[in-house]
Amino acid sequence: MPASCACCGEPAARGTLTRGRVGSGLIVGYCDDCSAHVGRDVTRRLSGVVASSLLGGGLALSLPFADRPPSIVALSLYVLVAAIVPVVVVVLWPRRPAPGHSADGPAARFVADGVLLCANDRYAAELARANDAKHELATFRERRFAAWLLVPAPLCAAAGVATLVITSPLVRVVNLGTERVTIDVDGRRVVAVDPTSVENASAGAEVRITAGEHELVARTAAGRELERTHVRVEGGHPHLFAPGSEGYCFWLESAEYGRGRANEPLREPLEGTQHFWVLPPDLGGFFRPVPEQARAETRLTGGTVTVLRQAPCGADP
Ligand SMILES: [Zn+2]
Ligand SMILES: [Zn+2]
Repeated sequence: MPASCACCGEPAARGTLTRGRVGSGLIVGYCDDCSAHVGRDVTRRLSGVVASSLLGGGLALSLPFADRPPSIVALSLYVLVAAIVPVVVVVLWPRRPAPGHSADGPAARFVADGVLLCANDRYAAELARANDAKHELATFRERRFAAWLLVPAPLCAAAGVATLVITSPLVRVVNLGTERVTIDVDGRRVVAVDPTSVENASAGAEVRITAGEHELVARTAAGRELERTHVRVEGGHPHLFAPGSEGYCFWLESAEYGRGRANEPLREPLEGTQHFWVLPPDLGGFFRPVPEQARAETRLTGGTVTVLRQAPCGADP
């Protein structure tokens, strides 16, 4: 190796290992001054990755908590774009070497086919002469891109989608018919629900659906459409979807306590033409009377416990 600095041509003070593709490497000499900038491109790519993670991760963990969270597709897109912007800046921003230097990062690096690319042509010529190698004049290109720059973007998008799904409102689907039904949300099959007729706290299935407008379709196993409805899922509320539940009545039952006496439970029927309801955010249970334990607790603190109940219309449990 020439005894001069690979960047400025002054006498070299220390060697830096420059790795090739297959694990071999060369010790390239740099002067003190130039040693300072050899690692700069790695630092820049590293800060690109940090900025990408912060922007993408920040959006991934905040957008799902917005009043109107975006859909899964929109959220992934926002997060991906935000995480890619710092990478694009790092990759496209050209850096000029300072006066007297021939490179801003390392002045020699291996390119894909095992060729050593040198920023300083005098150094390259000297190196070729000393090693009996062929030397060509080429433009020095800095390595501004690395595959790992792209790692945070899909990870952040995945984290955003997971957060959105985990924090999405619950929809309890009950099937009061006689056949098993399948539920499609926006054209995607999400759950199959077996029939139940008696009131049962574990009846039906719970699915998480992102807040916002959705189309729900219930079908029987034979493919017959039982119900198709456009609904608005509200953040922070539980919901009830009871396709094909003609003949059944649903109501909210509130037990009020406080001031040392218990009132008769208050009943508020669920009405509407579609079999989908947004329930109170503090719902205390599904398809069972107000639990005794809750009675005891609210008797102490004063307050109300509300549960959702169900029965064939006209019957009184
Ligand atoms: Zn130098
Ligand atoms: Zn230099």
